[in-house]
Amino acid sequence: MSHVLIIGAGGVGSVVVHKCAQVSEVFSRITLASRTVSKCKAIAASVKERTGVQVAVEQADADKVAETVALIQRIKPDLVLNVALPYQDLPLMDACLATGVDYLDTANYEPPDVAKFEYKWQWAYKERFEKAGIMALLGSGFDPGVTNVYCAWALKHHFDEIHQLDIIDCNAGDHGQAFATNFNPEINIREITQRGRYWEHGEWMETDPLSWSMTYDFPEGIGPKKCFLMYHEELESLVHNLKGLKRARFWMTFSEQYLTHLRVLENVGMTRIDPVRYQGAEIVPIQFLKAVLPEPASLGPLTRGRTCIGCVFTGVKDGKEKRMYIYNICSHEEAYREVGSQAISYTTGVPAMIGAKMMLQGRWKRAGVWNMEEFDPDPFMADLNTYGLPWTVIEL
Ligand code: NDP
Repeated sequence: MSHVLIIGAGGVGSVVVHKCAQVSEVFSRITLASRTVSKCKAIAASVKERTGVQVAVEQADADKVAETVALIQRIKPDLVLNVALPYQDLPLMDACLATGVDYLDTANYEPPDVAKFEYKWQWAYKERFEKAGIMALLGSGFDPGVTNVYCAWALKHHFDEIHQLDIIDCNAGDHGQAFATNFNPEINIREITQRGRYWEHGEWMETDPLSWSMTYDFPEGIGPKKCFLMYHEELESLVHNLKGLKRARFWMTFSEQYLTHLRVLENVGMTRIDPVRYQGAEIVPIQFLKAVLPEPASLGPLTRGRTCIGCVFTGVKDGKEKRMYIYNICSHEEAYREVGSQAISYTTGVPAMIGAKMMLQGRWKRAGVWNMEEFDPDPFMADLNTYGLPWTVIEL
């Protein structure tokens, strides 16, 4: 019986609240806080209608540590679950340290003025979290998150060593909009326009943004899709924690239409993250762009099709080389029917709930700052099957 404070009433936040409400034997009290309290109230109303569970709502600006500390001291949660933006990771970790409360997020810290994500800022909290006797679980979404757990599970049950890892993220869905992102547009575009990066033979190799592609034939009728090599944050922790990895890469599918829009937006300067003066005020072009693009949470009723995210491993077991694929397929329409959100928010929100459940039930519990692959994958893998993200394994 635990109290969870969920911060961020966006697309992912909505799924997390709905899923926690479905597991009321663990999450006996739920509080949702965000900058815009009307968004919290709308989510709470949907949860009440679907599950009968009452969710408390609060207004909070998670950039302001003192405000979050006061909120935590007033409502006394057992865990802070951060599904606001990566910019809020460090202020929320500071608030958890000040109050002695456990922490979980789904995306690693990014400084607002540099489009760069790295674990170093959050890993630097390890000793302080250990000393305070509290835990931080980093990256409990799908990728990062489930992909890390797939790696730990493959290594525990199927390989003595994993030599090559390809994480492949396919969104074969269509929302019918000319251009929209499936999660926060600012974070999404910052990520996609970065240089590509992968790990090979003990060093990081770089590529121009979206300059490498391959066609992968996805299972269960999804078929062949073009995937682009990108840098993604779980590569950093997996290279660190999975000994023996010789190559690790991350791929994502994009449609020609999406890439054409993105190229034009980049060329005209709309993806810039530095401020420009406009009519006497400073605006950041990418933040203005976010304001005119569809909210990810609004894509739920519009999106049709499926996602397929998984890991292809090559390695050795008992001296023999083997190749294996673990994946989940998630339907946008089924996610919408269940919790009122499209599958990208769903595939992130469900693992966030499961990660919180692991911590609150004491199954994953260790003071310090941890990534997902550092814990026993078995209970998490079992919960994925129970709570809406079943997985399939095939030997290739
Ligand atoms: P949204 O933009 O839909 O939602 C973010 C929410 O955070 C908004 O409701 C916003 O509130 C709130 N917020 C922003 N700043 C603050 C603040 N200072 N204080 C309190 N609340 C704040 O994004 P998503 O739901 O799509 O994404 C949420 C997180 O999930 C992101 O960090 C994203 O990177 C991560 N993610 C992880 C994935 C994974 O697989 N690991 C995949 C997809 C997303 P308001 O509207 O009031 O400003």
